[in-house]
Amino acid sequence: MATETTTNIQATGWEYSAAPERFPISIEETNKLFIDGKFISPKSRKWFATTNPATDEKLADIATAGAADVNAAVASAKKALPKWSKLAGSERAKYLYRIARRIQERAREFAVLETLDGGKPIKESRDVDIPLVAQHFFYCAGWADKLEYAFPGRNVQPIGVCAQIIPWNFPLMMAAWKLAPALACGNTCVLKPAETTSLTALRLAEVLQEVELPEGVVNIVTGAGDTGKYLAEHKAINKLAFTGSTHVGKMLMRNSAGTGKRLTLELGGKSANIIFADAAIDQAVEGIVSGIYFNQGHVCCAGSRLFVEEPILEEVIQKLTHRMKSLRVGDPMDKNTDVGAINSRSQLQTIEQYIKTGVAEGGQLHEANNQQLPSKGNWCNPCFFTDIQPSHTIAREEIFGPVLSVMTFRTPEEAISRANNTPYGLAAGVWTDKGSKVFEVAKRLEAGIIWCNSYNRFDAASPFGGFKESGFGREGGMQGLKPYVKLV
Ligand code: NAD
Ligand code: MN
Repeated sequence: MATETTTNIQATGWEYSAAPERFPISIEETNKLFIDGKFISPKSRKWFATTNPATDEKLADIATAGAADVNAAVASAKKALPKWSKLAGSERAKYLYRIARRIQERAREFAVLETLDGGKPIKESRDVDIPLVAQHFFYCAGWADKLEYAFPGRNVQPIGVCAQIIPWNFPLMMAAWKLAPALACGNTCVLKPAETTSLTALRLAEVLQEVELPEGVVNIVTGAGDTGKYLAEHKAINKLAFTGSTHVGKMLMRNSAGTGKRLTLELGGKSANIIFADAAIDQAVEGIVSGIYFNQGHVCCAGSRLFVEEPILEEVIQKLTHRMKSLRVGDPMDKNTDVGAINSRSQLQTIEQYIKTGVAEGGQLHEANNQQLPSKGNWCNPCFFTDIQPSHTIAREEIFGPVLSVMTFRTPEEAISRANNTPYGLAAGVWTDKGSKVFEVAKRLEAGIIWCNSYNRFDAASPFGGFKESGFGREGGMQGLKPYVKLV
């Protein structure tokens, strides 16, 4: 089935002409499971639809993996393990390099597919997601034959069969963050993408066939929570890596207790940006805007709380309002678009409920409602709230949408204690002109990633992961290899 890449969304009131991405792409009507190196129909005989959240149009049917299908995928990964784990690291590296290069060659196709299925702006999937996917495979390829240098003096062994469950906010990137280190370290995998965004993972399976990755080394099972549950609870898996909601993460931790399975969790966040009066304000506002409105706020490390030093509050609000209103919301396939579609109807409802709660609890809503949103699809205008107290619901709970809570502080001490006053601890941003203040504040923030005078910057060489209820374990960097090795 050939699918039109231009989505025909009527955008009005924009002073830019539309610049639609026109890369032609075809999507199979039915998308099967990838098990033992082959695409196969599900034994469950069940399928579900995936839609384009910017148009509500159905894109394709995806297989629902039932218990028997998950069993087959795990059995395939187990069968492939002895040979793959004994392969020389330099040989495993060759496969990873080939995957990385093939992703680069097919980058535009992956970007378009990611945007169609998930709703994120094409300029993000094209310039951020897919390049980082290739980078992670390149980076991990480099480690595959150097593991004894990553862990000097230790005998490095793979863990075994890894179950990897990922969310919908960075679909292919999350797949790469999980698969690349696992493969580099000699493990075999069963990956489950999120149900709204399975298409790019399945296309990655095509790449795995193209590079002749041995059968069963990577298996991809699609489906919703039930499929995830079968996989997570499977007796033959040795390691479970999960990225998603804190609720499901806690459940997985309870269920895996006492089973001997290794576990890493990357969960939610309520990350803080702290802006001091001596900061370069324009630069800070730019970072704050990208920190919360990038990817519609569907970012686990989104800077969803902003703490402003009191004397500059007015200036920051004024600049933030101006910048927020200049963001282009609409057709994700348009290269001018800054804020795309909300990933699903249910996520949109969650966000809208939080906005209502924010108003009901006394917050003042500032909305970029100057643009006419498309009539179909899931849309949310970027917004922020002032008159917010740390006790307000929207300042405490993860929203996973383009909603920012603005609060103030008077001293660095107060900024640090307010920023740390959350059950989460994924990321933080510090904005100041003084290097000493950066180090002093960053040292005392309880967050896994701290950006200074920047935000939402990612690199394959840099570890990513949380404190407290944001989870444990690191992805990326040398540290990201550790969850995938047994040190004996
Ligand atoms: P979720 O945790 O329900 O889904 C994440 C993945 O887990 C999906 O692949 C899903 O199919 C699977 N899953 C669901 N239930 C499962 C179960 N019982 N056992 C095993 N796997 C299961 O997240 P969601 O509902 O898609 O999103 C809800 C919230 O999760 C968001 O509002 C946000 O707070 C959070 N989230 C966080 C991240 C992150 O990167 N940390 C990413 C996406 C969503
Ligand atoms: Mn979809």
